[in-house]
Amino acid sequence: MSLLNRAAVFYEPGRPFELIELPVPEARPGGLTLRITRSNVCGSDLHTWRGDGRARRTDPAGSILGHEAVGIVHELGEGVTADWNGQPLAVGDRIAFQYFRPCGNCRNCLRQMPEACTESFKIRFGDRNKWPYARGTYADYIYLHPGQAVFKVPDAVPDALAASANCALSQVIMGLQRVDVTFGDRVVVQGCGGLGIYACAIAKERGAEMVVALDAVQDRLDLARQMGADHTINVSEVTDMHERVGQIKTLTHGFGADVVVEVVGSPAVINEGLRMLGWGGRYLEIGVVFRGEHFECDPGRLVGQNQRIEAVGSYTAACLQKAIGFLDRNMQSLPLDEVLVEYPLEEIGQAFADQDAGRIRRASLVME
Ligand SMILES: [Zn+2]
Ligand SMILES: [Zn+2]
Repeated sequence: MSLLNRAAVFYEPGRPFELIELPVPEARPGGLTLRITRSNVCGSDLHTWRGDGRARRTDPAGSILGHEAVGIVHELGEGVTADWNGQPLAVGDRIAFQYFRPCGNCRNCLRQMPEACTESFKIRFGDRNKWPYARGTYADYIYLHPGQAVFKVPDAVPDALAASANCALSQVIMGLQRVDVTFGDRVVVQGCGGLGIYACAIAKERGAEMVVALDAVQDRLDLARQMGADHTINVSEVTDMHERVGQIKTLTHGFGADVVVEVVGSPAVINEGLRMLGWGGRYLEIGVVFRGEHFECDPGRLVGQNQRIEAVGSYTAACLQKAIGFLDRNMQSLPLDEVLVEYPLEEIGQAFADQDAGRIRRASLVME
């Protein structure tokens, strides 16, 4: 069987994806070649596709997007015998992987902050006509470099769940860890897309006593409840910001939230979220992944009430390890796979359009 490495090239907003064929990258020492089996449409891919903020600066030569994915080991490079849990790794094993690679020796890596590595994302760019060809996962095969964490996925965890481990789920785990969501916390989640419903589940897993989820779409709120939210606020029904802030104050007996998580992906909701915080509260920004936008903020309130804002845009290898463990433990009890709608790679344009229009929650490209 001759191998085909189909890849979907994105040129610019409004222009259809182009399906091309690339060589399959050979595995070099320390790395491995992965056959992608499923790749989701992440919110950040959607921002690029739409041309939001500075994401509108695109490569005229086109680029292969996609990073939230799962795949099967196609070829192991010399010296690769185990995953990052120390489990033996062989051709045919299914793995989740870090889609970036902290360098390990820049100033931030040396200071134990690999998530802030300044070199991390360089492996995602380059000439697609040169090895390792496709750098994004909207392709049949990609190459994983030495230093990209890989973890075998337990057989019981389906691809539909495993595919979001390396972006949405790990990102949420990293974020809630950064703001230290803990036993007894009251947490507000702004937005119930892929990130938001995971935030509800992970906050409960970390011991939150109350999770309140906000969204404009009722079935997303229903799913958030199944994922652990104790209360929901439909912002298309409760349309006044001050009323919503008042509801959070009432639910928290006047104190306000300990943690508010922004996963709407819109700077417009940040001011409201900050107002929902109680004294000493922590605000977690994850959703806005493109630059060039601004939000309103009263710094005196932050100072006066000893609040803090944290932003998280990457994650450590340990978060991916925990993500796989979380799925393995919870796959029976959580309706995680209801989030995805499947498309073949040839219909990538439709997948993006449907997710953009809100006709589906999350698109997932299946590469069989
Ligand atoms: Zn992503
Ligand atoms: Zn580094």
